[in-house]
Amino acid sequence: MGELRMSSLIDGFGRVHRDLRVSLTDRCNLRCTYCMPADFSDWIPGDHLLTTDELMLVLDVATSMGIDGVRLTGGEPLLRPDIVDVVKRIYALPHAPSISLTTNALRLTDLAQPLADAGLQRVNVSLDTLDRDRFKALTHRDRFDDVIAGIEAAKAAGLLPVKVNSVLMRGVNDDEAVALLRHALDNGWNLRFIEQMPLDAGGLWARPKMITADDILEMLSAEFTLTPVEGRGSAPAEEFYVDGGPATVGIIASVSRPFCAACDRLRLTADGQFRNCLFSAEETDVRAVVRDTSLDDAARREGIEQILHQVTRSKLPGHGINDASFIQPARPMSAIGG
Ligand code: SAM
Ligand code: SF4
Repeated sequence: MGELRMSSLIDGFGRVHRDLRVSLTDRCNLRCTYCMPADFSDWIPGDHLLTTDELMLVLDVATSMGIDGVRLTGGEPLLRPDIVDVVKRIYALPHAPSISLTTNALRLTDLAQPLADAGLQRVNVSLDTLDRDRFKALTHRDRFDDVIAGIEAAKAAGLLPVKVNSVLMRGVNDDEAVALLRHALDNGWNLRFIEQMPLDAGGLWARPKMITADDILEMLSAEFTLTPVEGRGSAPAEEFYVDGGPATVGIIASVSRPFCAACDRLRLTADGQFRNCLFSAEETDVRAVVRDTSLDDAARREGIEQILHQVTRSKLPGHGINDASFIQPARPMSAIGG
């Protein structure tokens, strides 16, 4: 698993693609304000979702081309009824990739151990506040305790280190930067702050309101000594040792410090659309190839390969969020897969 192989997924700027983010559903049991409006109803129709057999065909081809890391996401990936089976089957692929999961943790108390047994290696949990009432206001659900229990379950199942992702918003939870890091250090979480991106279906994002990496570093530096960790590679997070280490804190500054030049990621939506960037305006339909009954298995695989090459080749050098001409993608983060 995660064996070192050549990847043939190289774009026009020499970037070698090894990582695939796979959205398993656009449904969610929270309604984080920056991701999905509380009254969201534009769901992907059920028959558009890739079945698990269809997904495995796509992943079999993608891993044979050099994808060696698969991150399952959504929506909330733990809402996929056969999530344990999905992990088991990815783990059993001939070129099994490393498997990780991004989750709100609500179902982790039941699922952490079965998922670890199935081959899951790591989890990223999203949590933006340590205050129960604030959590309810931010997510429109009163489920704070379930998240904390889910994180503990992940630790107990050996899904280590548990990474916790927080999005800070001005006037909402930006007063919690230091408290979140202290809590993370005390509880063995690996905390990363994510800059809020223009991907909410409600169009709430506004650049001047954003809490930037600089803001976060300033708030944290008032309480901690932060020293940059060298050797970031293609990781989206800039890591810093806290008070000399070994504990670290990460900042994912997609907006103010874009890391597109080192990006090695492709994305597959739950309805079988490949994207070469979170922010791309285009998607390429692999579901149509997978479901084309006029093709035999070899032709279907070849079709998937061609799409992966084409999606990789057409990747732009950067996401363009900071350009005047930037247009927010038509789908919210929950449907693209974060
Ligand atoms: N439901 C899972 C979760 O919340 O972890 C997985 C999907 S969620 C879309 C993946 C990540 O995207 C989460 O860490 C979430 O905080 C982040 N996210 C969602 N909308 C965002 C936005 N507008 N800007 C920055 N991060 C966002
Ligand atoms: Fe759901 Fe994750 Fe989006 Fe929150 S960030 S609404 S938990 S998909």
